[in-house]
Amino acid sequence: MIKIEKLHKSYPIGKDSLHVLKGIDLHIKEGEFVSIMGSSGSGKSTLLNIVGLLDVHDEGNYYLNGQVIKDMNEKKAAILRNKFLGFVFQSFNLISYKTAVENVALPLYYKGINRKERLEIALEYLEKVGLKDWANHLPNELSGGQKQRVAIARALVTKPKVVLADEPTGALDSTTTDSVMDLLKAINDEGMTVFVITHEEEVAEQTKRIVRLKDGVIISDELTKASKAV
Ligand code: ADP
Ligand code: MG
Repeated sequence: MIKIEKLHKSYPIGKDSLHVLKGIDLHIKEGEFVSIMGSSGSGKSTLLNIVGLLDVHDEGNYYLNGQVIKDMNEKKAAILRNKFLGFVFQSFNLISYKTAVENVALPLYYKGINRKERLEIALEYLEKVGLKDWANHLPNELSGGQKQRVAIARALVTKPKVVLADEPTGALDSTTTDSVMDLLKAINDEGMTVFVITHEEEVAEQTKRIVRLKDGVIISDELTKASKAV
């Protein structure tokens, strides 16, 4: 699903450059539930942004669903993102003046689906994340965990092949964190590839494979206990 070879990324800083990813090799197969662990500044978000076609790499190869990612412009990237990827962020990124169901329906607008059908589909996804009764509430009437569930429903509504989550539990307390991770696990159990960034060990342990990043290189890549549980 995701194949990365000898990937490098630097950011220009004045006349210098900051070498953030220093030769990453990573292969994620369809249906995996993987976390990238590492301390702040280790390059996790940089990697996820490249995987998510929100940024471009400098050197190395990236294949998404068998397709080589090269010479991307914003239009090509947007088409591939809409087709293959769903995003979840630490800060939820919900639109404050739209209701939960309208937020979930939004990606379908860009697919040209009519409003009635959009809202019907969105409601099904809200039901899936346990928030059907909250459909007509605004984000500021929801708890942090509920907001993240809405964001997850929105990520799923276009039926992506991969869900990319950058610190999805970073703004949540530990109980809510567990319920959001349980939801991601349930989504993975249905066959979805899920790729989570975190700096919290307890979160990473709930995924099936932990890739550890330090100073821009992968220092370990191991299956967790959760991968062996029946
Ligand atoms: P993490 O998500 O692991 O905390 P990041 O990938 O966000 O790490 O950042 C890695 C390093 O790259 C940090 O030193 C950060 O300051 C730097 N960085 C991230 N994004 C940019 C950018 N757009 N321009 C310049 N430097 C950046
Ligand atoms: Mg980050």
